[in-house]
Amino acid sequence: MWEPASEPSRRCTSESCQPRLKCNPTNIFRLRQHGLNVKVFEKGASSGGIWYWNQYPGARVDSDTPIYQLFDKELWEDFTFRERYAGWQDLKRYFQHVEKKWDLLKDIEYNKNVEGATFDESRNQWLIECADGTEVYARWFIPAIGFAAKRYTPPIKGLSSFHGDVFHTAVWPQWGVNLKNKRIAVIGTGASGIQTIQELGPKAAHLTIYQRTPNYCLPMNQRLLDPKEEEEKKKRGEYEEAFKKLYTTFAGFTYDFQERNTFDDTPEQREEFFEELMIKQGGFRFWLNTYKDMLKDEKANNEAYNFWRKKVVARVPDPQKAALLAPENPPHPWGTKRPSLEQNFYEVVSLPHVDIVDLQTNPVEEVTEQGIRTKDGNLVEFDVIVLATGFDAVTGSLAQLNIRDTDGQSIKERWADGVRSSMGISISKFPNMFFIYGPQAPTAFSNGPSCVQLQANWIDKTIKGLEDKGIKRFVAKKEAEDEWIRRTREEWDATLFPRAKSWYQGSNIPGKKVEPLNW
Ligand code: NAP
Repeated sequence: MWEPASEPSRRCTSESCQPRLKCNPTNIFRLRQHGLNVKVFEKGASSGGIWYWNQYPGARVDSDTPIYQLFDKELWEDFTFRERYAGWQDLKRYFQHVEKKWDLLKDIEYNKNVEGATFDESRNQWLIECADGTEVYARWFIPAIGFAAKRYTPPIKGLSSFHGDVFHTAVWPQWGVNLKNKRIAVIGTGASGIQTIQELGPKAAHLTIYQRTPNYCLPMNQRLLDPKEEEEKKKRGEYEEAFKKLYTTFAGFTYDFQERNTFDDTPEQREEFFEELMIKQGGFRFWLNTYKDMLKDEKANNEAYNFWRKKVVARVPDPQKAALLAPENPPHPWGTKRPSLEQNFYEVVSLPHVDIVDLQTNPVEEVTEQGIRTKDGNLVEFDVIVLATGFDAVTGSLAQLNIRDTDGQSIKERWADGVRSSMGISISKFPNMFFIYGPQAPTAFSNGPSCVQLQANWIDKTIKGLEDKGIKRFVAKKEAEDEWIRRTREEWDATLFPRAKSWYQGSNIPGKKVEPLNW
């Protein structure tokens, strides 16, 4: 059907002989049904994306199960996750199930690192280039590399001189690492840091958390799923109802903001309502099922913060630790940085052999051969340093590839003055290219699979429509991008989100333009 070729003479040039697509497994199945030749190139050795690379201890999803499954009935009718919030092992089982069910493996090449692509005007096709020299032409090109494919390592003085092991959560060794009874440092307290600390804290000989900003963690209320109960739910049509509902809510979950504002309730009603959301139901409900003004009005937001703080402080007996984890004055409005879901994080942090170093008052000076020295002169010795320092998120994934527009400019160059796209799915001067789960889409503000499924459906319909009409070139207009940027900015400015230094707006990466990155 198609022929990879590293030399021009080996390139297959007949139209029928070309792979039409570079895309992700969500698309393969349907596009194949339209009679297209589909090929996926994947850098990892198996499926999973973030769940393949980020296999750090304790890595698990924190969106409500089973809602992160793909919505097709034939995928979920004979698959049930083990827990409400599945761990990476169970997610791996799900990916394998999807591959098998849709016979996807025949169209996927693993260990295939796409480095760049250029649009060939004479053919209206992309020439896609891989690190191993493979070059293929494709009519349609779908980079589906997620929002967190470029990890961030801060330039910490002396890091390379450390004699112990250094691991970044985003590229955790696939063979696992035994960290029992080790002296461990964890730098960073985003979702990756929280989960790593929770898992390693009880096993470590000593664990030191280097915290720059406290994470407003919420109770996960994790539990095992009863397969029989889930089967009953499927039979009663509850899964189908849930999947329908996802398309209608702000963040692609089964729940949405309330119709009422914070001060529409009395203090007693508010207390009861917060208790129900945060403690009884758990998950993201305290964030996304709450009063509709919580993320827009400072006074309303403070009410959420104070309730959250009260609950955290009650779980942390050491007042110094409590003050660092849940300060009296909020460092940023509640929910304007992504909260993580925790199971026993505050109990683990309270263990006597777990310390917190506040990087705001006592930053890291250097890493030595033995450990980490902070500004106060204190050197703590370690066997292992874990960097949970996140990603050049949302734009970094695509911008790191050498994909060039019809003027020869790379995406990185095009976005130097700010990210541009039409509807967070295509870019002007990049014809026949649709990206998934990237900038200016609901991406990081959404339940991932809800966003991805919606985009994959849109791309599927668009390509089918274009193919049916014999249209060989399709490109976003600059005016459409200008309008999308205006609307993204307008929505963003109406919230409290701009007040947090966060990867939602690129302010976690020194020198990166600060702007709203998600729709
Ligand atoms: P992150 O949220 O960006 O967290 C990075 C952490 O490193 C932050 O606490 C940050 O502090 C800190 N940091 C960065 N540079 C630093 C420096 N120079 N010195 C000290 N500390 C520094 O990254 P992440 O935890 O990998 O998570 C990213 C996103 O990926 C999540 O929000 C989530 O969307 C997704 N994720 C999901 C899951 C899950 O669902 N289970 C798990 C992991 C990741 P500041 O806050 O002060 O910047």
